[in-house]
Amino acid sequence: MKAEIIAVGTELLLGQIVNTNAQFLSVELATLGIDVYFQTVVGDNMTRLQESIQLASQRADIILLTGGIGPTQDDLTKDALAAFLGRELHIDRLAMDHVAQFFTKRDVHMTENNRRQALVIDGSTPLPNATGLAVGNALSHEGKYYIILPGPPKEMAPMFHEQAKPWLLQHALTDEMPIYSTMLKFAGIGESLLEDRLLDLIQNQSDPTIAPYAKEGEVTVRISTKAPSEQEAMIKLNALEKQIQLLLPEHMYANGDIPIEKAIVDLMTDQGKTLSAAESCTGGLLMERITSVPGSATVFLGGIVCYSNQMKEKLLNVPHDLLEGDDAPGAVSAEVAQVLAEQVRMITDTDFGLAITGVAGPAYSERKPVGLVYIAIAERDKKTEVYELNLIGNRETIRVRTVKSLLYRLWR
Ligand code: ATP
Ligand code: MG
Repeated sequence: MKAEIIAVGTELLLGQIVNTNAQFLSVELATLGIDVYFQTVVGDNMTRLQESIQLASQRADIILLTGGIGPTQDDLTKDALAAFLGRELHIDRLAMDHVAQFFTKRDVHMTENNRRQALVIDGSTPLPNATGLAVGNALSHEGKYYIILPGPPKEMAPMFHEQAKPWLLQHALTDEMPIYSTMLKFAGIGESLLEDRLLDLIQNQSDPTIAPYAKEGEVTVRISTKAPSEQEAMIKLNALEKQIQLLLPEHMYANGDIPIEKAIVDLMTDQGKTLSAAESCTGGLLMERITSVPGSATVFLGGIVCYSNQMKEKLLNVPHDLLEGDDAPGAVSAEVAQVLAEQVRMITDTDFGLAITGVAGPAYSERKPVGLVYIAIAERDKKTEVYELNLIGNRETIRVRTVKSLLYRLWR
């Protein structure tokens, strides 16, 4: 089933309001396994509204319209759909009672145009409006399904959930199979590289579908399929997951919506390993992320926020001539990151010592650019790994990305 959403309203075209109705409906329809191919926005204009309806009827099975069902002359949605279908409108008795009661209860005079809010298209199912006045409509016509919902989101959303969705399930989606999906999470790889590695698979694969997306420095791949039962869906999804894992062996860290810090705490718990941290420019953010995971106490033993040079010297034994002096590499350097990681690991007697030092901005520091960060991972009996990062963004995003980046490298 393909759907098109038509949001009606000149305010939308003028940019005075944002089309959140389309967003809401797209999310809802996706969970029903309905593909939304187009979202249209059209003003309060009879000709263009009818054109939009005609176009949508050619390319979609389900057409959802929102807005333009109020009492005023610019509310044209029902008139336009009725005219397009060659049907008439009539006043729905129950809907009219609902409108009339609203005015009686408030002791306000009801003007004639309010009757328009009780109009329904002949042969349609009225969709009662629990939070407003205008009645919605649902109907099928020549194999297509049409739903009319109010514009105000507070009326539209409950009407969709309580009226339109059950109607769709009963009339349009009787043969549809439910959709099942799995989220695969990746570490230490960018979205474009990941897509490149999966390109053949994505292009030759239509079921299950593969959708990679990046959010806040994380790459997620959602694989989805329609199947009559969860068991059958899982067979298809698991097979594809194995193929993906083979193509990106070192990067997939979770099957499910699991944050990297949780994956690390779980891994370290399994391996009986412990962690500590020394943080400069992130001021404790790394420790905050790790300790936000329930059960992290057995893994994360402690750490030090060594923001100033004095604290780096005093608490973590960083040699003075690494920090200050004409030839000193400075606090933001690979050398200092390495000492911080090794020292915190030794002081706490943990398996891994993690360290971060960098320039989060907005101003330069030690004449080094904003976004230059060094991270280090010292592991017991192993050579310490140090990485230079050149991040872009504001202070907050640089700090967040630094922490993610370190966690990803720790995972690998
Ligand atoms: P009313 O009875 O209030 O006239 P209506 O069903 O005729 O309702 P519109 O007149 O088109 O709907 O819009 C009324 C209000 O609903 C808009 O001013 C806006 O605040 C909100 N609205 C309409 N369409 C959308 C949309 N697509 N996304 C978000 N909000 C919307
Ligand atoms: Mg209106």
